[in-house]
Amino acid sequence: MMHQTGTTGGRMVWRAADPAVWDEWATRLGRLLSPAARVVRDEPMSRHTTWRVGGPAAVWVEPAGEEDLVRVVRACGPAGMPVLVVGRGSNLLVGDAGFHGVVVALHGEYWQRVEVSGERLWCGAGARLKAVAVAARDAGLSGLEFLEGIPGSVGGALRMNAGAMGSSMFEVVETVRLMDAAGEVREVAAGLLDVRYRCCEGLRDRIALGAWLRGRPAPREEIQERMQSYSRRRWATQPAAPSAGCVFKNPGGVPAGRLLDELGCKGWREGGAVVSDVHANFIVTEAGATAADVLRLIRRLQEHVWRERGILLEPEVRIVAEAEGEE
Ligand SMILES: Cc1cc2nc3c(=O)[nH]c(=O)nc-3n(C[C@H](O)[C@H](O)[C@H](O)COP(=O)(O)OP(=O)(O)OC[C@H]3O[C@@H](n4cnc5c(N)ncnc54)[C@H](O)[C@@H]3O)c2cc1C
Repeated sequence: MMHQTGTTGGRMVWRAADPAVWDEWATRLGRLLSPAARVVRDEPMSRHTTWRVGGPAAVWVEPAGEEDLVRVVRACGPAGMPVLVVGRGSNLLVGDAGFHGVVVALHGEYWQRVEVSGERLWCGAGARLKAVAVAARDAGLSGLEFLEGIPGSVGGALRMNAGAMGSSMFEVVETVRLMDAAGEVREVAAGLLDVRYRCCEGLRDRIALGAWLRGRPAPREEIQERMQSYSRRRWATQPAAPSAGCVFKNPGGVPAGRLLDELGCKGWREGGAVVSDVHANFIVTEAGATAADVLRLIRRLQEHVWRERGILLEPEVRIVAEAEGEE
């Protein structure tokens, strides 16, 4: 039997007293969805996060299109079943206990479409940011070069308002197509989505399905040169080992990396999680690292900075761990 015990962030927490209950959910979703969809039990999240840590998703679903996604949302919502949408997992820490719910990945062909129309690009939520930057370059559209080295998807970049090299996602977004918790689909103007630094509140409880982005016509060679210079700058300043990019938001304009560096945190370690020697706002993982290692290191860094400077570092990465309270 399935029972609900307590809440996290106001949401019910499902615990399977019997794994057969998750089997039932997987079977049920498998029957509801089109044959092109994928439904998997106990899919290790370590395969789907760039930190390469995290326990299993009780049920992992790859809907083939919007109709499938509506069905997932409408089956899970009324049952209080938690749903976590993931992109490329490049800003995500899932606990070692995994996710007791349904993880939805927009990975199929339908979700990865990038189509150019004049000075605009339609980008599916599952499209890789690099593919968007390359499509814009090939079409002679500038303004999206900064997406080149961010290893995420359009959906994740919308949710995080990802940014680099002085630009951020919502500077180039015109409208977002999204699905709400009732499975209703709408296209919403970017200005109505309560966008902040590294966060889009308007997507907190909604799923981004895709977005229209806008570029500016420019010579391709110029765009290519800018992409190459961004790439060189990135490789010179960031570690190559598995990470989730910057762990903390910059507090009040001070780069968190500089703060951590000044406080001597480079090289700090908890188990297989280490503060990078290249960039102090990156935690890199070694083989055998666990999500608990990463979490312990995050907490230790926060405590240290609080004690030494009275600054509370807020994680930029999304933490989905039972002990932490989900997102
Ligand atoms: C080496 C490295 C370098 C990085 N450099 C940068 C950088 O320069 N700038 C920067 O901003 N980030 C950077 N990041 C972090 C990360 O790549 C970005 O935040 C990226 O936008 C996350 O996209 P994702 O698809 O991987 O999202 P995920 O990590 O899969 O998810 C992140 C959040 O978005 C939510 N989400 C995912 N898809 C959807 C959707 N379709 N609808 C609604 N919510 C969704 C998830 O639930 C989660 O809360 C870097 C990461 C790495 C590993």
